[in-house]
Amino acid sequence: VTSFAGKTVALFGLGGSGLATALALKEGGARVIACDDNPAKMAEAGAKDIETADLRNIDWSEVSSFILSPGVPLTHPEPHWSAKLAREADVEIIGDIELFCRERAKTAPNAPFIAITGTNGKSTTTALIAHILRQAGHDVQMGGNIGTAILSLELPADNRIHVIECSSFQIDLAPSLAPTIGVHLNLSPDHIDRHGTMELYAAIKERLVAKAGLAVIGVDDPMSRAIADACEAKGVNVARVSVEPLNVKGVFADGETLVSVTGADAVPLANLSGIGSLRGAHNAQNAAAAIAIALALNVPADEIRSGLHTFPGLPHRMEEVGHIGEALFINDSKATNADSTEKALKSFDDIFWILGGKAKEGGIEPLKPYFPKIRKAYLIGAASDEFAKTLGTQVPHVHCGTLDKAVAQAASDAQSLGAHAVVLLSPACASYDQFPNYEVRGNHFRDLVRALPGIEARGA
Ligand code: ADP
Repeated sequence: VTSFAGKTVALFGLGGSGLATALALKEGGARVIACDDNPAKMAEAGAKDIETADLRNIDWSEVSSFILSPGVPLTHPEPHWSAKLAREADVEIIGDIELFCRERAKTAPNAPFIAITGTNGKSTTTALIAHILRQAGHDVQMGGNIGTAILSLELPADNRIHVIECSSFQIDLAPSLAPTIGVHLNLSPDHIDRHGTMELYAAIKERLVAKAGLAVIGVDDPMSRAIADACEAKGVNVARVSVEPLNVKGVFADGETLVSVTGADAVPLANLSGIGSLRGAHNAQNAAAAIAIALALNVPADEIRSGLHTFPGLPHRMEEVGHIGEALFINDSKATNADSTEKALKSFDDIFWILGGKAKEGGIEPLKPYFPKIRKAYLIGAASDEFAKTLGTQVPHVHCGTLDKAVAQAASDAQSLGAHAVVLLSPACASYDQFPNYEVRGNHFRDLVRALPGIEARGA
């Protein structure tokens, strides 16, 4: 990025996006002084020829901007020490999305830029719309909070579409964010620890859509509805999306049919039934948002339908791993809390449920309404005893200890049931007691399932 050529920029936080930012700035002719609390990260940056220093010892009067990594607190519970230093020196505090926006404004202001936020469904919607656009023949760069850091992607160009997932932390650090299409999916009390209050959190999400050329807004929760109304009152072009049929401009699910409404016309556009990677009402919201974006970019309806059907889904989120006869195997390892697991339990019947790990507060109490759908539960990890108590006499359950044992037992039980049986890994727990992270847990589940006799693997 060239917007900082000849200037001195300080940067704190040398994770993936911080490192990418430092390299992009340096390549564009800026002097970058980078810092991290972790000496290993400092050494890694140094090895890449990036100047590192303790930001407490630099001359802040030379610094024109301060770049903060999205993982580092800016406001709550209090600003990180480096942000305090920048404020005292009256230096602007920005993030990598802001650098991208400035570059785009300078070099390709009309380059299509789609920014996606929300509490849940960001990655799915981002990957889905990127897939639809690519299949329709567009040059697509996808990244941000998902996958590749925004400044490691190709730079904006007139016929290149950037599809960028934005966390609220990134929006907070991007004052000139004004995407071609801004997407806000939903709001639920999450990350409040970082932003202090729900109102502040909502205000940050609203910023992403308020300056968009088109604002695609999910209206299935009250705070997001308020954001849509506020945007419209300000004259923003709004398309609403919902899992209920509505009679305003937007894209809505009517059962499994997605309908586009413009003016007085309601046009059925696609049907989600049989699309394994987009099961469940929450995915209808994600698909509706993707369709609204695709329509705004003039993707023909048949290309949209074909993109929905060929979307492989994201790994570890209700990922279909394969089936033995009619028994289906689903990897939902990303579900690290009851809220996420609820989405999976809602989506299936006759469930052989593998759960457990390091429990979150409240455990699986909120999932009791779904217990009648559970044929049997297979407990793994540290939460086993606690969860066994909650399951009680209502749900037959066994203590398996390891994921290996759980998969073997569940597979055998599910096959004896036959039709509609689903072996579901949706742990409602963090993985740290047995695995380094949810990805390793999900990958292990996938390997175990693919090694079962008679398995027909999906996407193998
Ligand atoms: P994010 O990137 O926002 O964390 P993902 O697309 O990775 O979201 O989905 C993570 C989990 O959130 C999914 O496994 C599912 O349980 C849930 N989820 C996905 N989309 C939605 C949605 N639109 N509304 C509510 N929950 C959702």
